[in-house]
Amino acid sequence: MIVDLRSDTVTVPDEAMRRAMIEAPVGDDVYGEDPSVNELQQEAARLLGFEAGLFMPSGTMTNQVAIAVHTRRGEEVIVPEGAHVYEWELGMMATFSGVVPRFVHAPLGVPDPADLRAAIRRSIHQSPTGLISLENTHNKAGGTVLPLDVIAGAREVATSEGLPLHLDGARVMNAAAALNVPVSDITRHFDSVSLCLSKGLGAPVGSVLVGSKKFVGQAHRYRKMMGGGMRQAGVLAAAGLVALRDGPKRLGEDHRRARALASSLVNAGYAVDLASVQTNMVYATVPDAARRASEWAERGVKANALSENSVRFVLHHQITDEMLARAIEVVTAPVPA
Ligand SMILES: *Cc1c(COP(=O)(O)O)cnc(C)c1O
Repeated sequence: MIVDLRSDTVTVPDEAMRRAMIEAPVGDDVYGEDPSVNELQQEAARLLGFEAGLFMPSGTMTNQVAIAVHTRRGEEVIVPEGAHVYEWELGMMATFSGVVPRFVHAPLGVPDPADLRAAIRRSIHQSPTGLISLENTHNKAGGTVLPLDVIAGAREVATSEGLPLHLDGARVMNAAAALNVPVSDITRHFDSVSLCLSKGLGAPVGSVLVGSKKFVGQAHRYRKMMGGGMRQAGVLAAAGLVALRDGPKRLGEDHRRARALASSLVNAGYAVDLASVQTNMVYATVPDAARRASEWAERGVKANALSENSVRFVLHHQITDEMLARAIEVVTAPVPA
């Protein structure tokens, strides 16, 4: 039995999803003529509370296209420390949009709206602020959720300062599940939102960027510049539609299993910041992490060693209770002398 807990990106399309892909009506999406892509874009926009959506191959592309639309060269983007748009997107905000990040302190991935306001720069001697970009759930902080009052506070700052507010919502469906609210309660505060279909929702490929009609019209041009104009992409969008419809209702189970794994790790003597275990991720302090992870992998349990003493486990819908029990057995076994 292989139990792959490296990421929620490792899921593979099941029967129903593959059937939807085979049967999808398709056309040339660069001409806007793929019915499945159009349906996905409309459905994602409606679900998140926006006028329009745009399908792209990856979350990196949706985020970087959003940054390109919202900013001008030489500006700063205010982000919570550890933000994926900077830490894991290879400097693209600089190479593509010519902008630089300004980090604000964000314990558990949550910035204080007062700190967002204090980070705004306007003097002619400084790079002006062009955008505030938040992340929900916050990946590097442990899959943590932004409280709704913090989002409302950030919205108030953005509105009063005349700045756009973007959400890297790669896993915003996990945040909605954790808070037990409709996802639009979270997303409606933003000017644009990027959502991954290929994480916990289970599609093989794709992300959607949503915003106003005008915003999405501008986003089209940058998607094409990045090489993200796809042709008969309906075969992918069809999988995305299944993910969007069926994925969210399974996330609560992933969260329950993450909590179970975290408490087993704690009982076995590993340090886990339980306050950070809010959705489908568990970051544990594991001495000699790379070596432990490779021993576990030999016994069929895969996890990501992120540093010398830190391992990340991510739950997803293709991890059953039986597989979780096996993972716990392997990971909590006594360390060989
Ligand atoms: C996965 C992820 C993305 C997008 O990643 P891709 O691999 O490019 O699809 C963006 N933001 C966050 C927080 C993520 O976890």
